[in-house]
This record gives sequence, structure tokens and C-alpha cells, in this order.
Amino acid sequence: MFIKSGLQRRKEIKAARLNKAKRSEVDVYSDVVPQGALLADTEVLRERNPLERLPNFYVDRHFICKDCESHEIWTAKQQKWWYEVARGSIASKAIRCRSCRFKEKRRKDEARRVHLEGVARKHYK
Ligand SMILES: [Zn+2]
Repeated sequence: MFIKSGLQRRKEIKAARLNKAKRSEVDVYSDVVPQGALLADTEVLRERNPLERLPNFYVDRHFICKDCESHEIWTAKQQKWWYEVARGSIASKAIRCRSCRFKEKRRKDEARRVHLEGVARKHYK
């Protein structure tokens, strides 16, 4: 009997989810909430986005990482967190995969450190 490894299984689940996200052209402004969608808290969204049109729900979204071009899923759960907990603008979207996001953060932190060192040198010579 062949037993799939956990890793293999996880890869399959990810691939299936990705395919589903690629196919979905869901109208998030619709009142008809598809199965598996996460309801949006429009009251919370409204505070951060007073004038924008707000979605009624979130569904998994497919996107291609800006830096490494890998195919990724921005899950409904991650979107809800981003817009409602982190209070990201409703106009903002995921553009980088997880590892490129960390890389970009390290690059920015490093640029900031170099900049601050330069400023310090100028003032405390
Ligand atoms: Zn990437």
C-alpha cells in the first residue's frame, strides 16, 4: 500500500487551492456568498475606507509574486486579517510571496540602518 507523505499531501492541497483561486472570478460585491467564502465586516472596513466600495466577503485569490514570479494564494483568511485587523487599505493587495516579503523587509531594514549610520556620522564627527 502506498501512503503519501505529509509533504506530498500538502503540495497537492496547495495545488488544488491554487487552481481554484485561479479560476474564481467571483463578484465580491454580490449579496450571494459562495461556499467557502469568509464574510467581511463592513463596519470595520468602513472606518478605514470611508469612501470606497466594500466587498461583502473574501475568497482565496491567486497572484504572481512581483519578485520571484511564483504562483501564490492570498487566502480569504489572510485578506480578512489584512483589511480588518492590520487595517490595510481596501485598495491594497498581496504582491509578494512570503519569502520575498521577508527579503524585502530585510532589504528595507538594511537600507534604513545604512542611512541612519550616515546621518549619525554627519552629526557626530
Ligand atoms: Zn516571491
